[in-house]
Amino acid sequence: MQTFVTHLECSLTGEHYPADRVHGLSASGKPLLVRYDLDAMAEVLEREEVSRREGGFWRYREFLPVRFDANVVTLGEVTTPLIRLPSLEENDELWVKDEGRLPTGSFKARGLALAVAMARELGLKHLAMPTNGNAGAALAAYAAKADLRATVLCPADTPEINIRETSELGARVFRVNGLISDCGRIVGERAQDQGWFDLSTLKEPYRIEGKKTMGLELAQQFDWQLPDAIFYPTGGGTGLIGMWKAFAELEALGWIDSRRPKMFAVQAEGCAPIVRAFAAGEEFAEPWQDAQTMAAGIRVPAAVGDFLILRAVRESGGAALAVSDEDIIAARSQVAAAEGTLLCPEGAATFVAWRQAKAAGLLDEGSRSLLFNCATGLKYPLTDHSTMLD
Ligand SMILES: *Cc1c(COP(=O)(O)O)cnc(C)c1O
Repeated sequence: MQTFVTHLECSLTGEHYPADRVHGLSASGKPLLVRYDLDAMAEVLEREEVSRREGGFWRYREFLPVRFDANVVTLGEVTTPLIRLPSLEENDELWVKDEGRLPTGSFKARGLALAVAMARELGLKHLAMPTNGNAGAALAAYAAKADLRATVLCPADTPEINIRETSELGARVFRVNGLISDCGRIVGERAQDQGWFDLSTLKEPYRIEGKKTMGLELAQQFDWQLPDAIFYPTGGGTGLIGMWKAFAELEALGWIDSRRPKMFAVQAEGCAPIVRAFAAGEEFAEPWQDAQTMAAGIRVPAAVGDFLILRAVRESGGAALAVSDEDIIAARSQVAAAEGTLLCPEGAATFVAWRQAKAAGLLDEGSRSLLFNCATGLKYPLTDHSTMLD
């Protein structure tokens, strides 16, 4: 299989880097993005052909950097369903993309499948990362399948299910008395003497390519007409940046037009660095002190791709919105009982943000909005609504 990769590019300076080498951040300490020969791709690939292929994100093979099929690692990825929420949508159209159906129950599978395939391709042996839970589990699963070693550092109060899941899947797990940023610092400091390759969010170029497939997939599912708004629970922001990149690539291929959804970055009130930077009109986000929220997946005090998130949100005419933990918990119960769809806390946060955006007049009447349920609701402690009957 050929790839259409031409080079990698610094997301801040545009400086070029050669493909097929091991890369972390660019020389200026910013994420590297993979670039493709989209003209060549347009000549040989048609969207109808891609749509006919078997489901799951590997159907977008040409949009991905893996050169040899033998390095592809699969655990039964599926195309995640779009579920409409008619009883909650009022005069709008409201959909959820349920990413909880992927291997290890979260959309982290997309990014880690790609990172592990590329690690194999580049001959890396031992992968390490900081995690709030789901990324570590996805790394453990794909690394096990690919016969690579995995070491994961997580805050000690990471949801217990994630910690147990990750170690069952064969990774070495360290609970750290601190936040994900502390775990990330330890991975960075110890990588060299431990022989680890650092797979931190956006500190290597390939997880975002996996997350990008959310944008390709939803475009295809909506018959190449993007929704009017996308609500994305934003930690490191890989998915939001990845989808934004996917839309540009699809437009370059002539598969979609130039209209874009308003991108809404959703954070928790107890950890909202992107929301604060958005409101202040800043290009980069200051780290958030004393980050606190029950939505572990978005408890990320500092994101190396902050400026890319903020750029996409601003260019799209969207916004960055913060929601409270109380509203998240209430929204989870409401959506579950009304629509039979159990969201994870981060997914429920996007529903709260959608209501907030509507109330603030940020959406046109009749807008089609898409929420992201990034993980299965079953991974999280749930509210007890039962009654004891003796
Ligand atoms: C990782 C994660 C997020 C945040 O995703 P990013 O693309 O890193 O911003 C949100 N929710 C859940 C459940 C996650 O695991």
